[in-house]
Amino acid sequence: MTPSRTRRRSQSPSSEDSAIEPEISTIERFTTVVIGAGHAGLAASHFLSERSLDHVVLERGELANSWRCERWDSLRLLTPNWQSRLPGVPYAGDDPDGYMTALEVVELIVRFAATARAPVRTGTNVTSVRGVYDGYRVTTSHGEIHSRTLVIASGACNLPMVPAFAEAVPADIEQLTPFDYRNPDQLLDGGVLVVGASATGVQLAAELRRSGRPVTMSVGEHVRLPRIYRGRDILWWMDASGVWDQRYDEVEDLTRARRLPSPQLVGTPERTTLDLNELTAMGVELVGRWASVRDGRALFSGGLRNVFSLADLKMERLLSGFDDWARTYGSDAKLGPAERFAPTETPASPRWQLDLRSGEIRTILWATGFRPDYRWLDVPVVDTKGQLRHDGGVVVDSPGLYALGLSVLRRRKSTFLYGIEDDAREVVDELSGYLMGGSRVLGSSETVRS
Ligand SMILES: Cc1cc2nc3c(=O)[nH]c(=O)nc-3n(C[C@H](O)[C@H](O)[C@H](O)COP(=O)(O)OP(=O)(O)OC[C@H]3O[C@@H](n4cnc5c(N)ncnc54)[C@H](O)[C@@H]3O)c2cc1C
Repeated sequence: MTPSRTRRRSQSPSSEDSAIEPEISTIERFTTVVIGAGHAGLAASHFLSERSLDHVVLERGELANSWRCERWDSLRLLTPNWQSRLPGVPYAGDDPDGYMTALEVVELIVRFAATARAPVRTGTNVTSVRGVYDGYRVTTSHGEIHSRTLVIASGACNLPMVPAFAEAVPADIEQLTPFDYRNPDQLLDGGVLVVGASATGVQLAAELRRSGRPVTMSVGEHVRLPRIYRGRDILWWMDASGVWDQRYDEVEDLTRARRLPSPQLVGTPERTTLDLNELTAMGVELVGRWASVRDGRALFSGGLRNVFSLADLKMERLLSGFDDWARTYGSDAKLGPAERFAPTETPASPRWQLDLRSGEIRTILWATGFRPDYRWLDVPVVDTKGQLRHDGGVVVDSPGLYALGLSVLRRRKSTFLYGIEDDAREVVDELSGYLMGGSRVLGSSETVRS
């Protein structure tokens, strides 16, 4: 199938407005529009092409835009190279256990777009999507498109989240998000308060400490993991034991699983572990979760010991599960001995407050997570928390609308590069079934399976 182009001339102008150019409305038609040319949108394109479904991929920036524009200079993937594979594009380098730089991820995605022959239109911003009687009307910076179906692959991390009390921070402290941050040279001299202890928080706290700055890190709920366990990358264990393949409809608390912070991992050539003990050894001061600002003072929650114990306990449970798996499936002999790691050390007397007017802190770096941006989506399918209402990527209450690239969309591995293949294949299967009149259409109160 090839896209059709419908040109409609407005009615003949009356004598009064004959001086006005007749309005020409150009509406292109596709079976499917995909929004976003990151790896998720391109994977959708790959499977749409396999099924000969005509489509277009609309991208406001360039291919792999978020890896070009929204990552800091030193970022490397926390997933090993052998997991940096996309449909039809396996990892072909000579360092399967290394970790790609952001630039290498751009190259991988560009290669994937070429291999998949994805029909991408870069520099095309989608400003609105509306439901119409037989599909969707997509308004872009270059005109209007009608599509019967639509795949939202616009990313899960479009906007950094910053708590509302950030507004009460004194004006002479510079506030940055990971989208603004590139490297330590860009910061004022002096102390930095890093807020958040997920992958982003620990990586940036370590980098800033290494630059010689005093660093304080505010720690809330987090996921602690060793880089290497029993001689294997921790993500090898996640993959081999089936943890990452766990399906969304098998996860006990899906809402919670979708909100879990990213694990404390960093990808370095030395394959080092970067946990809170490591940061403490580097001289980073740990404080509790930042709760509020009062009279120019940052107030931190107590209970740091409990937060640490919980993360340690969860890590222990996960590692014990891996040991059980290795015993059951006869891999024990091929692996190193079971290991246990020192509990996270709690500072003797963590500070409960910090005077933001004292000059001690010159910069605050908010590593407090990201969220998607659906301000362009004029279809009522976004919940009060700003998340798309969907069941395994089939959007609820909006037939023909699909999503990819969201946390635990269909599996625990959904947001990762190597997690997209299974999700994209299945979501395109759903879409194709819908076009043929045989797939499920979800309403908020019921699941209709025809
Ligand atoms: C800091 C960080 C580190 C990560 N590390 C890893 C890792 O180690 N390993 C791993 O596998 N994954 C990692 N991820 C997760 C994941 O791979 C990325 O989030 C990935 O970018 C998601 O791919 P995507 O295609 O879903 O979204 P994106 O790559 O964000 O692509 C979405 C695209 O949609 C475009 N877009 C958005 N809105 C519009 C619009 N209105 N009109 C037109 N285009 C639009 C954007 O410009 C963008 O190009 C990381 C993510 C982050 C944020």
